[in-house]
Amino acid sequence: MKSLIFNLVTALAFALPGFAADKHEAKAGPNGGRVISAVEPHLEFFVTKERKVEITALDEALKPAKFTGQVIAVTAGERSKPTKLEFKEEGGKLVSSNTLPEGNDYPVSVSIKPAASGKAVYEKFNLNLEKCPTCKFQEYACICEHAKEDDKKK
Ligand SMILES: [Zn+2]
Repeated sequence: MKSLIFNLVTALAFALPGFAADKHEAKAGPNGGRVISAVEPHLEFFVTKERKVEITALDEALKPAKFTGQVIAVTAGERSKPTKLEFKEEGGKLVSSNTLPEGNDYPVSVSIKPAASGKAVYEKFNLNLEKCPTCKFQEYACICEHAKEDDKKK
């Protein structure tokens, strides 16, 4: 019996840091955009009112940080005629000079290279600009459980 209680306490101790880490991931970016955590430093993918894409480098606390020379390319829209976004640096972040295609809820692919010559990491998701009914973010940046359910279905 004593060892069972000990095991439970040990299990809890190991479970708690994991729980904290999950909470960290379910955070929106500083502008309310989607956090891309597959790369270091993490990036925020944010759609402005003008339908431009803003990419911000983030630090450990998901606060805006300096770019480290990551090379980013974004393709958006239906696969038959996707739009390639061009970026230029503006006030410490990357802002697209062209806008996203018309419509809503279409696939987006973000390729991120650590430098001009590195291996690209791809972040692919559906860009749904509707407001999430449960949390205060748009669906593409949603941080509540219902978005995770959606992701699993895809
Ligand atoms: Zn939500």
